[in-house]
Amino acid sequence: MDKLVLGEIQMLTQNRYEELIRISIEEADAAICRGDEPFGGVICDSDGNIIVRGGNRENTEQNPTAHAEMVLIREACKTLGTKDLSGFISVCNAESCPMCASALILSGIREFYYGAEMESFCGPYIRMHEVLERASGAPLIVSGILEEECRAVVQKGRSLHPLKNSMPE
Ligand SMILES: [Zn+2]
Repeated sequence: MDKLVLGEIQMLTQNRYEELIRISIEEADAAICRGDEPFGGVICDSDGNIIVRGGNRENTEQNPTAHAEMVLIREACKTLGTKDLSGFISVCNAESCPMCASALILSGIREFYYGAEMESFCGPYIRMHEVLERASGAPLIVSGILEEECRAVVQKGRSLHPLKNSMPE
């Protein structure tokens, strides 16, 4: 498991972030069943209590920005009645794309946990840590959590719903 710590942040316990990754995998699986992309996650508070859980809704909403993280930010802000998610935590089955990483930073979130690495055909191929290294507020990323299970659900989604127009790996 890799950990990129760019500052001093209170980390969730290993048991708790593994539980939250498992819930993210369930949400990715639910997204596959809806016909959406195989990504899911949660936004929780600093003690690991779930505020919202959900997954990708790109096809359901016919909206290319409805990645899991974007859906979760929207729902968390609605639930909490604020646009400021400072002190909250993002957990996903896979690494965030640059759009989502930027949106998470704009929301105030500075603590991130994920399992599988970004797929190499994603464009623009800018890794999450490259975005976070440019953010203020000393973000923390813990990657590679339950990586095999996380990658397996992504592969399941890709095999059931092959991507059009994707570049070969
Ligand atoms: Zn994204």
